[in-house]
Amino acid sequence: MKVLGTLVDENAPECWDEYHPQGTHLWSENAPISIQHHPYNRSDVRECMGCKRKFLHYTEYGGYYLDQRIRELNIKLII
Ligand SMILES: [Zn+2]
Repeated sequence: MKVLGTLVDENAPECWDEYHPQGTHLWSENAPISIQHHPYNRSDVRECMGCKRKFLHYTEYGGYYLDQRIRELNIKLII
């Protein structure tokens, strides 16, 4: 995967809230992508070298683990 850019804004206030006005959750297929909200405000944008699809990637920091999370970037879900 190639990193295309980042959504991280160093000057933005820290925000850990997720945005789910329609009752979706983080793992919902149709969860909206709001770049001011977690986890997209901590994501970078990557492109698959093979199929050219774009993905959002971020690292989840748990107590004892690092978890690399990825979601396909669906333009229709960006709000
Ligand atoms: Zn691919």
